[in-house]
Amino acid sequence: MKIKFIGVGAAFAASEYFHSNMLITADSGKRILIDCGCDARFSLHEAGIDLDNLPTELDAVYISHLHSDHIGGMEWLAFNTFFHKAPKRLNLFMEKKMMAEMWEHSLKAGLQYIGDKDMTLSDYFTCHPLKDNATFKWEGISFTLMKMPHIVSEDNTLFSFGLLIKNSGKTSRPVFITTDTKFQPDTIESMADKVSTIFHDCETSSMRTHVHAHYSELKALPLHVKSKMWLYHYQPNATCDPAADGFKGLIQKGQEFDFS
Ligand SMILES: [Zn+2]
Repeated sequence: MKIKFIGVGAAFAASEYFHSNMLITADSGKRILIDCGCDARFSLHEAGIDLDNLPTELDAVYISHLHSDHIGGMEWLAFNTFFHKAPKRLNLFMEKKMMAEMWEHSLKAGLQYIGDKDMTLSDYFTCHPLKDNATFKWEGISFTLMKMPHIVSEDNTLFSFGLLIKNSGKTSRPVFITTDTKFQPDTIESMADKVSTIFHDCETSSMRTHVHAHYSELKALPLHVKSKMWLYHYQPNATCDPAADGFKGLIQKGQEFDFS
């Protein structure tokens, strides 16, 4: 199993960093896209994916939450795979309530009609709606949803569903991708004992949004936790020195991690 970061930038980082989406290649060679932001056409192309043959290049997509740097490319992906000489419905994995909201509030307006046919999300994707703590299997890899608080208001919490990923049959420890999350030290410290690697959302801007873990918060974690952490979803030109602070480092766009 390989995990490639096809983008590493925050939602409004400079465009060349692309959005924080990933491509996981199973040992079988099939690929699942983790989030599909509005940069996806460009980031997938730069990652070597043939955009004219997406139905064969990709097998599945997983969506963590509904911000456009994570779902803004979904209309393009739906139309591209539907209007293809060899059309294929990619597998779509995501938490079930979020899946319904994505259709109703984001995708329906653009995807609902084709000629005089009324379309649904299932016309474009093979939908796998999941419970919020589900484990699903894909190509010998198990993915467990981890409910991470992303935006917390007085009345509501918007969650992003991170992933605990284990290559079945391998003895190596699982890896954890937080996706977008506020600073959650208890979760991260307990997770550090179970996993080999943590890929963590990290805001580096001095203009704090308070919906992402900030570098200064993560820096205060114990060294044995930081020593397993790679940081992504950052703003460029940060003045921090992750290696000196005990982290693995900032992930570079296009960097690929091999867990075979
Ligand atoms: Zn977000």
